[in-house]
Amino acid sequence: MYLPTIGLEIHAELKTRTKMFCACPNDPDKKEPNRSTCPICLGHPGTLSVPNEEAVKKVLKVGLALGGTLSKTSHFDRKSYFYPDLPKGYQISQYEAPLVTGGALNGIRITRIHLEEDTARLLHDDGFSINSGRPTSTWVDFNRAGAPLMELVTEPDVKNGDEAVAFARELQRILRYLGASDADMEKGQMRVEVNISIAKEGEGFGTKVEVKNLNSFRAVAGAIAYELARQEKLLEAGKSVTQETRGWNDKTGETESQRSKESAHDYRYFPEPDIPPLDLTKWDLETLQRELPELPEAKRRRFEIEFGLLPETAEFFADEPPYADFFEAAASELKEKLPATNYQRLTNYFTSDLQGLLREKKLEFADLKMTPEHFAHLVAFADEKKLSSRLAKNFLAEMLETGEDPETLIVKSGKRLIADAAELKGVVEEVVAANPKATEDYRKGKENALQFLVGCGMAKTGGQASPDALRSLLEEALGEQ
Ligand code: ADP
Ligand code: ZN
Ligand code: MG
Repeated sequence: MYLPTIGLEIHAELKTRTKMFCACPNDPDKKEPNRSTCPICLGHPGTLSVPNEEAVKKVLKVGLALGGTLSKTSHFDRKSYFYPDLPKGYQISQYEAPLVTGGALNGIRITRIHLEEDTARLLHDDGFSINSGRPTSTWVDFNRAGAPLMELVTEPDVKNGDEAVAFARELQRILRYLGASDADMEKGQMRVEVNISIAKEGEGFGTKVEVKNLNSFRAVAGAIAYELARQEKLLEAGKSVTQETRGWNDKTGETESQRSKESAHDYRYFPEPDIPPLDLTKWDLETLQRELPELPEAKRRRFEIEFGLLPETAEFFADEPPYADFFEAAASELKEKLPATNYQRLTNYFTSDLQGLLREKKLEFADLKMTPEHFAHLVAFADEKKLSSRLAKNFLAEMLETGEDPETLIVKSGKRLIADAAELKGVVEEVVAANPKATEDYRKGKENALQFLVGCGMAKTGGQASPDALRSLLEEALGEQ
């Protein structure tokens, strides 16, 4: 029985106006290659790098959000290696004095969070040379070179793939809440590397393998599962695990050896001589702390308590802050109109009807014309039984696109809820007379037939009848005969 040990290294592209050490726009996904560049981020000799304060501040906020310790002094180091996407031969990173140390998330301890510059992007040509079987050419796009990159390293506290994915997901939410990064894994804005080893209980740590190229949560889970099985098989066969860097192949669902792992001394780290040490005492921590928004965990808990939501519904809202803001505004308006209401109908209308309509009409939530107040008024009408839910849904569809308030729409349509027995008597008689087959079926015990008859009554009244009232009147009428 082997115990897994897993540690994560997560990179996130920070959302800042300019790059890490120059004034170029920070737009790594810009379509036209090599447009956001200058001698600094192209790595020309003799240029001087100046750190981006906004990037430093964003990392400090992430540190605060995770309960880490912010350094009072910090500096940058040169990490030397050559690769075509790093032509100056070193990356400016942080080694000895990261901006943040310590902290925890989901019970997993954080070792450090530091700041560095991203590399350029290599694009391999699709064509292959017949002789070598290799790509005919590789292009370099420097739009991403020098973009601010945050790296977070965890202690080897992760016990399985689920914990790794939950950690990465929660970090992604926090980065988004803080406005630190969009953290879209598919776009490479957040990149996860997992370090995995296994060992028998009581035998310490095994040899670790680092897996790169994980650009989805599915890949993180897949790579961990694959590695655990591969390493166990090796050890069971009396072989040993090689310390190396492996890549995840999304197509085969396997990890593949890339290179043997380099260690810190291979990089010849030394303090970056062109950038003075950072004096972080000038940041007022209390101000930074005050600037932190409510974090996802707190929002989920508050939504559960304040609105009586199920944990998964609270998570649905907390994962999309614009949804959460809209829901909160609507909830406060609803409470004002109907102090005795609960939020069940509001929640249902939002998570099911509204989402369904947006999908059906191919509308983005951001393009919604309806205000949260109007949405709340519609729900209040339904709550007070002034509208059947059928009609409410029709009005909702109209409100989405027009931004009209429900009062106006209701008056304009001349529609209302008809629940009065005297008013519905005629409708019921007509429906029964026009559907002898269904009435017969109902008497024979077919419950579906009653549903069909209720539907006929709804149609006859243009959706205005209360389905509950119709049902009981029909039951009454059919029972008597
Ligand atoms: P390296 O110097 O090889 O990069 P680090 O000590 O910096 O190693 O750790 C890198 C990552 O590997 C961290 O996330 C750490 O938690 C994790 N790690 C360290 N030891 C192990 C181990 N035995 N098994 C799995 N992960 C480990
Ligand atoms: Zn530049
Ligand atoms: Mg390391």
